[in-house]
Formats: sequence, structure tokens, C-alpha cells
Amino acid sequence: MAQSTCGSKEKLCWQLKINGTVQGVGFRPFIYNLANDCNLGGWINNSSAGVMIEVEGTYENLVFFQQQLQNNPPQLANIESVELKPIPSRGYKFFSIAPSKTENLKTALIPADAAVCNECLEEILNPLDRHYLYPFTNCTQCGPRFTIIKDIPYDRVNTTMSSFALCPDCSEDYGDITNRRFHAQPVACPACGPKMEIIDRKGINVTGPENWLSFAWKQLLAGKILAVKGIGGFHLACIADQHVVELLRTRKKRSGKPFAVMCRDLEAVNKYCHLNETEKQTLSSSSAPIVLLKLKGTPCLPQSINPGLSTLGVMLPYSPLHFLLLQGPLELMVLTSANPTDLPILKDNHEALEYLHGIADYFVIHNREINQRCDDSVAFCYNDKPLLVRRSRGFVPNPIILGFNAREIVLGIGGDMKNTFCLINKNQAILSQHLGEINTVEAEDHYLESLNHIIKFYDLKPKILGYDLHPIYNASRLAKNLPAEYKYAVQHHHGHLASCLTDNHYHDKALGIILDGTGYGPDEAIWGFEILHGDLLDYQREYHQRYTPLLGGEYSINNPWVMALSYLLEYYSNREGTEIIQELFAKDFPEELDLVLKTASKSRNHVKTSSCGRLFDAVSALLGICHVNTYEGQAAIELGELVIDQLDNKASDPYPFMISQSEIDFLTIFPAILEDLKKNKDLALIAKRFHDTVIKAVTSATLITAERRGLKTIALSGGSWNNPYLLTKTVNILQAHGMDILLPKNIPFNDGGLCLGQAAIAYRRWKENVPGCSDENS
Ligand SMILES: [Zn+2]
Ligand SMILES: [Zn+2]
Ligand SMILES: [Zn+2]
Repeated sequence: MAQSTCGSKEKLCWQLKINGTVQGVGFRPFIYNLANDCNLGGWINNSSAGVMIEVEGTYENLVFFQQQLQNNPPQLANIESVELKPIPSRGYKFFSIAPSKTENLKTALIPADAAVCNECLEEILNPLDRHYLYPFTNCTQCGPRFTIIKDIPYDRVNTTMSSFALCPDCSEDYGDITNRRFHAQPVACPACGPKMEIIDRKGINVTGPENWLSFAWKQLLAGKILAVKGIGGFHLACIADQHVVELLRTRKKRSGKPFAVMCRDLEAVNKYCHLNETEKQTLSSSSAPIVLLKLKGTPCLPQSINPGLSTLGVMLPYSPLHFLLLQGPLELMVLTSANPTDLPILKDNHEALEYLHGIADYFVIHNREINQRCDDSVAFCYNDKPLLVRRSRGFVPNPIILGFNAREIVLGIGGDMKNTFCLINKNQAILSQHLGEINTVEAEDHYLESLNHIIKFYDLKPKILGYDLHPIYNASRLAKNLPAEYKYAVQHHHGHLASCLTDNHYHDKALGIILDGTGYGPDEAIWGFEILHGDLLDYQREYHQRYTPLLGGEYSINNPWVMALSYLLEYYSNREGTEIIQELFAKDFPEELDLVLKTASKSRNHVKTSSCGRLFDAVSALLGICHVNTYEGQAAIELGELVIDQLDNKASDPYPFMISQSEIDFLTIFPAILEDLKKNKDLALIAKRFHDTVIKAVTSATLITAERRGLKTIALSGGSWNNPYLLTKTVNILQAHGMDILLPKNIPFNDGGLCLGQAAIAYRRWKENVPGCSDENS
């Protein structure tokens, strides 16, 4: 290589600063070998500011070096920019790796956790290798990163591996530039690394590192529930047996929310689920998310895993520990994150023992500490691309590259549900892991702890802050106490629109179809079915669903039948409505019904809503599919399930609806659905007709607005778009009318991506000198 690129004899010296994810990904050995191949002298070091390189050699060799560096970097590396500066010749004879430096400016990036690589797996299965059956095997291409890093630069002393001194063999690998483990910070083997053990509910040790695996298999087969310490926290594991899964549900007090499963390999996945190329790639990627897949039906899995659903969340083993658990008699196990209700995922051994004491029979634990809690990510595939439902392990803290360069540090606080926060620094947005609901003291502590961690990591002090307009959001309350000079309250659905625009580097005006659950509007109503026209600065509300009372507020959200009742009361005269309602709900809710009817008649000042989630809830309840939500979004998800197989069918006749100047009115679909029910029409057909009605209404209103505003770009955001039928059909129709559709690329449709929009809006407003909110009136 060097010979072929040798030309002029004159030696030049270049200094290169590499920005991006280049630490902990085998970048230094890659550069070392490349520099030697190119006959270059010089050095490379990791510093808190990134990777610095000085190389000296002929012009041709330097150019070749730079091209290789940018075009063929290591698998997990993500180079964003290379700053190149010619410097005076230093007379370097050799290339060396200089020691890491800590500097005040911390802009280096931390890699995300990466699923175990094939080379490590081969060693784990090789009885002659010292990593044989070792659950902490890793290398520069794989292993834990974000979850074990305590500070930067990313070196072993700054991780939870610091307490494990390398044995001579590992030390040799670590120091050998030709080895896959060269400077792999979490490197370990049975002689020197973390050790497994299993303890019982009393905390008494029942196995050591030698026999943990066979014991775990035996207990799983016997129907026991195991708490398993993984990469970002604990899971609960059990076999896919109807009774065992029911037992897990009883103990976990989780009646309906679907569990995920982990399969041994793609072959095992394919046995139970339909699988296309994109889904295979997404499952096998180094971020290894849970992928929502369509079940085949036969062979069937117990319905208790995902009651009422035909889709299943599936993941592949992403750590050697999980891989080993599935090397024995099991090709599949139920695996659900172990977080007590409303609390973050558990990460420490003592926490697990305390909180899972009544749930797990045994605890499969080890002494490698988890520094940052991190839930599994979730995705589904649409049009050959994965779309995220939850962006967490495997993705965080990889930055999302922005289409603008911020002059100040900006923080987006996120919402109270599916919370993530976001820090914008220059042209990068760093989103936190999924922090979930911010509705307990523990969750607030977790939020602040994670925020401080990221702020400390990158040394970023936010000057500008965006938060949700909702006056009683806990996250917004936290925001008000944070030190930042400029604070901006952002309407929830404007935040959604901005998040999609920002993720697509789109900064002009666009239309946004925001179909969502709950978002506070400036008129104090709960919004959620909105066609907005706007940009990062401001928005107009072009259309929204006609308001319906949210009887009892939160109570309606948990009880879809109350939402159905509310729509029926709006449509019918009181007497007729009450009779129909009695007929529908008196049997199931004898006591509650009277109370709700009284509440409805007593006052006219109910909170009103235009939420899409509530509309789906109401129809789901009317069809008798789901009267009461046992988990968020259940009624809408189960309604969506009825149409999932009808994507290829032609659109049905929509139910009657009305579009006025600014309102979309679905009230008239309720008597029409009742009519269809009376005729004993198939529920799947009614569900399809309902979906087609919503799609017809939303596309019609959008096309009217597009014409009126002279715009063709349409952003989709809001949690309702996780419904594949709604998404596919709407996009198809709008594209057929020549519209350009923007979908989120790196963030979810739901509130997990909200923080990006909040931060982008706050920054834009600050730039345009819009006065921030004072804490009193915000
Ligand atoms: Zn590896
Ligand atoms: Zn070792
Ligand atoms: Zn939302």
C-alpha cells in the first residue's frame, strides 16, 4: 500500500482533529495500523476534546491516509468531521499511541452500548479459548459503553470496570496493537473480570461462576421466574408457558401489557414471526432493539405473553450473558424489563433484591456495576426502514446531527410521559435514554441524576431551555428550577411538529399532522388531533377535532368506555343518549355509570379534548374491544390490531364526518357504528371503516390546508402514528397527491422525541429575540 502511494520525497506534517463517536470503538489501533501501512510517523491520542492525530510523511501517503480514515473507519465509529491543519515538520520517525489527556473542554462523544459481535461469540463457544462460556466477553467492536462509563475520557479507570485489574493475558491483548481487544476498555476474562452468581430471595448464594448457567436453565425449565442483570438494568425472565407467564403477570401486577421475548437467533424468530430483510437487519444490528413483528400464528405462543395482539416484541441476545442463557434447552424466553410500577428500571443487585423479592424466584447477578440505567429500545419497520418507538439502549448517547449550528447550549426538557431530554451543542443533539414517566419522586431523582450525568460528561451548561406548556407537568416544574437564562414554554404539538422538522433538517414552514394522546393547549383544552402550519418559531392551528368533554379528566383516559359515553352524550339528546348508554355499559359498570352520568350532567365546565387517542379509545370501547386500559394506549392498540391484516384491501366507504372552517367533526360516526353493530357486522370491518374515515378526514383537511397555504411538505408526529394502518394509508394518499412526507428518522413519533422539538423551538425563539417566559407566568 505504502509503495503504491509513494511519490514526492518531501515530508509534510498534518494535524487532524477527529470529531464524532471515535472513542471506545477501536479507532486508535485502526489509525496505528493505517499510519504504519502508509509509512507515516506521528502519534494519536484520546482526549476529552476528541481524538487528535499528528502524521508526517509524503503528500500522497498523507492523502491516502486521510481517505482511508474517512471512508473505511471501524464498524462502530461515526466520524462527523475531520479538522485538518498543516503544521511544521516534527521529524517523526515512528507512529505511536500517546497517553490520554483530560482537558477542560469535554466535547468528545461517548459510544452507545453495542451488541456482542460474532468474533466474541465464537470465542465464547470455543472450549479452547479462555473466554469459553464467559458472559462478560467483549472487544473494541462490541460490549457495554454508555451504561458503564462514569466520566470521560473513555478509559477503563473512568468505567465501572476500574476495580478489575487485568490479568497477564488480558493485559497482553489490551496492549497488542494487532489484537481485536487493543485498548478495549471493558476487556475481561474469567481470570480477572466480573463474576456471575445466582442468589435466592433471601440473598443467599446458590451458585458460583462455574454452575450458574446450568442452574439458570434448570430453574427456567421448572417454571421459575428469574431476575437477570443485563446491560442497562434488570429483566425478568421465564419460559414461554401460559401458566408461568400468567404467574409472572400476577406477581408483577401487570395484567395486559405485552411482554417482549428474546430468541436464540433469527431462525428461532422466523419460526414464530414473519420476518423481512429490514426486520432481520434491525434485529441483528449493533443497537439490537426490540422489534415489533407480526406473529405467524402457528406454532403459537401463549396468549398471555401479548394478550389480544397479533404482534410481538422480539429481540436477539445482545450480551454474552443473554446469548448463553439461550444456548441451552431454550430457543426463546420471555424477557421484560424489571421496573416496579412508575419506577425506573432497576440496576443494582440490592435494589433488585428489595423490589423483586416477591416476583423473582432467583436472581442471576454479577459484580459489574451498571452506572447508567438504560431500557431496551423498541422499533418497528415501515417501508424498508426501522422507525423507533423508544430510543434508548444501543442508540444513546449517539448524537443526532442537526441542520443548524447552535451558538449556545440548549436543553429540551421533554414531557411527563415517555420522557427523554435533549441537549443541543453546536450541530449535535444528544438525547437521553428513555426515562419514562416523571410522576414519582424516584422518577424525578432519576431524571435529574441522568441530566446531571450528561451535563457533566460533556461539560454543557444550558443557557436556553424549552419545556412543555402544561402547567402541571412535573418535568416542566423541574425545568423552572434549573438554572438557564432563557426559558420558553412550548405547546406540546408544536413541539411534536418541530421535532419531526428538526430531525429532517427542515427549517421552513410546513404542515404537521399531529395525531397524539395528550397535549395541553393554550385554550386550556387537551389537544391531540391537530393539523398545524408552522416552523420552529411559531405555528397556527389550521384544523382540530371538534372538542368532546373529558369527563373526570384522567379517569376518562384510563376508562375508554367513559370516552365513548362522552361522544354519545354529545351526539344524542340527553334521554335518547342515556338509554343507549345504559344498554351499552350498565351491565359492566353498574355503579360507575351513575356517577359518570351525574358528573356529565352536573357541570358544563369539563375539560375538553380534541385528542386522537381518545377518539380511538371511544371507538374501541364502543366495539367492546377494550373498556378499561390496563396499560397506556391499550384500547387504541387493540383497535389497530383489527386492521393490521387489511392493509392491502381497498378503502371502505367512510362513516359520515364533517369538516368545517377549522374543525373535523367525528360525532356522526358514533350512531353509524351503532347501526353497524346492530347489523352484527364483523368488528374487523367496522374497525377498518373507522380507520378509513379518520384517514379520509385527515387527508382531506390536510390537502385543503396545503392548497390554502401553498405548501407541499407535511410532517407526521404524535404517538397515534405508531398504528401501521393509519400511517401507511395516510402517507400513500398524501404522496399520491404530490405531497412530500417527513417522518421522524432518529426519534419516535411519540413523546420520546418531543424534547428535540422543544429545544429547537427554544433556540430559534432565542435567536429571533423572542422574550423568554419568566417563572411566574410560564
Ligand atoms: Zn466483540
Ligand atoms: Zn483476564
Ligand atoms: Zn405527545
